[in-house]
Amino acid sequence: MRYLKQLSLFLLLGFLVGCTTPNLPQSGNEGATSALYERSFESNVPNVALLKLFFTQMPKGGDLHHHYSGSIYAETYLEWVKNKHWFIDTCTYKIVKNKGNDACKSVSVDELIANDTLYRKLLTLWSDKDFSNHSHDQLPPDSNFFNTFGYFSPISDQYMDVGLNLIKERALSENVSYIESMLARVGINSSDFFNTDEVKMFNNELRNATTQQEVNALLERINTVYERNQTFSTKVQNFVTELERRHQGIDTENFTMRYQTYAVRTLDPLQVYTDLLSGYKAALSSPLVVGVNIVAPENNTVAINDYTLHMRMFNYLMSKYPHVLHSLHAGELTIGMVEPKELLFHITQAQNIAKAERIGHGVDLPYEKNSIVLLQNLKTNNVAIEINLTSNEFILGVAGKDHPYSIYAAYGVPLVISTDDSGVSRNNLSHEYVLLASRYHPSYQTIKTYVYNSISYSFLTPKEKDALKKQLDQKFLTFEKEMSELAKILKF
Ligand SMILES: [Zn+2]
Repeated sequence: MRYLKQLSLFLLLGFLVGCTTPNLPQSGNEGATSALYERSFESNVPNVALLKLFFTQMPKGGDLHHHYSGSIYAETYLEWVKNKHWFIDTCTYKIVKNKGNDACKSVSVDELIANDTLYRKLLTLWSDKDFSNHSHDQLPPDSNFFNTFGYFSPISDQYMDVGLNLIKERALSENVSYIESMLARVGINSSDFFNTDEVKMFNNELRNATTQQEVNALLERINTVYERNQTFSTKVQNFVTELERRHQGIDTENFTMRYQTYAVRTLDPLQVYTDLLSGYKAALSSPLVVGVNIVAPENNTVAINDYTLHMRMFNYLMSKYPHVLHSLHAGELTIGMVEPKELLFHITQAQNIAKAERIGHGVDLPYEKNSIVLLQNLKTNNVAIEINLTSNEFILGVAGKDHPYSIYAAYGVPLVISTDDSGVSRNNLSHEYVLLASRYHPSYQTIKTYVYNSISYSFLTPKEKDALKKQLDQKFLTFEKEMSELAKILKF
C-alpha cells in the first residue's frame, strides 16, 4: 500500500508539471499488476516466491536462445536409455549399448536409479545439478557444463519427435508460445567430399587467409565442389524432410516452434563452413529452418584461433543468401577465462563482420575495445542481445552487477530473455525472469517490452509475428485481470 501512495503522488506530480510517467502503467488491471509486481520489492529482500508465481503465470512470448539437446532433463534422457535397453558405464557414466565384461560394471537404468550414489553422481555429470551445493570432485564449471552434451549425445537425437513434444508441453505449462530451438547440424561431413590432402589444404589456406576477399575466394572454390555433387543437396533435403516429419503436430493454435541449424566452432574450418553452408541451404529449402548459428565453447583453443575466420564465413554467406537470418553466440567470455586480447573484439566482429541479426550472451561487452561504439552500433542496427542469466552465472561466474545487462538496458539496446540450456541448467524461462527481476528490478512495462521483443526479434515472418503479438495482447489481458484479483486478496 505504501507503494501505491507513492505511486499516486508521483502520478499527481507528473500531471501537475504537464508530463506523464513513461514507464509505469497508469490504471486498470495493468496498473494493478504493475503494483503487485512492485510489492515484491517493498522489503530489502525481494519476495522471490511472489516473483516466481508472477512470472510463471505471465505470458512470456518466445524463448529465442534455446538448445534442443540442452533443454531435455537428464531424467528424460535416462528414460530413453531405458527404452532402448542400453546401459550406463559406472566408471565413465557414459551410455553403452551393450553390457560389457570389463572392470567397469555397466548397469541398467533401473539399477542405476536404485543406487542413490550412482544416480546422484550421474545427475551431476549430465547436468549442473548439485554443482555448488555440496563438496565433490568437480571439473571447472564451463567444462562440467559443456561435457554434459558428450554424456547424453548418444541418446539425444533418438527420440527427437518425443523431445520436441516434451519441450512444447513444458513451454505451454509456463505460458510460452514460441520457441526457436537450435536443433542440430545438418550433418554433412566434409571428408565425404574432399580427400585428406584437400581437407588439409583448405584448412591451411582458410586459416592463412588474412582478408575477407581471400576467404571469399576459397569459399567459392569449396562451393564449386559441393554444387557439382548432387549428394550434398540430397543430404540437405533429407535433413529438411526428417525435420518436417518430426515437426508434425508441433504447431498448434497456441504454440509455434521453429529451428536454427548450426556449426560447431571447435571443428576444423572446412567442416565449420560445410555446416554453415548446409545450414543456409536448409533454411532456403524449408520455412521451419529460420536461421543459422555457431555453437560450442567460445574459449576453446580452435574457436579462439578461428574466430575472425568464422565471422568472415558468415559475412560471405550473408551476402550470398541475404534472406537467411543468423544469430551468433558471441562474447560468452570473461576476464581470466582467456587472454585479455581475446576479450576485445568478439561481439564487435559478430556485429560488423558477420552482421548478426541477434547476439547470444554478449557478456564480454565491458572489455570490447570500442565498447561504446559497439553499443551504439547494436542499437542503431537494431541487433538484439539474448540474455541468459543462469548460464552466464554458471559457465562464466558473471552475475548481478557484474553482468552487462544493465548497460545494454540503459543504453537502449534491444534485449530478449532466454534460457540457453534449461535441461542442463535445470531451470525454465520463468526462472530467468525471476532472476532478472530480483537482480535488476526493471519496471513491469520494461519486462513486457522484453516479452514482445521475443516475438519482434524472432526469425518468424512478419505475418507470423503479428499473429503471435495479437495472441500476446489477449494473454496479457487475462494475466493482468488475474493478477489484479490476486492483488486484492494477498495481504503482505
Ligand atoms: Zn547457447
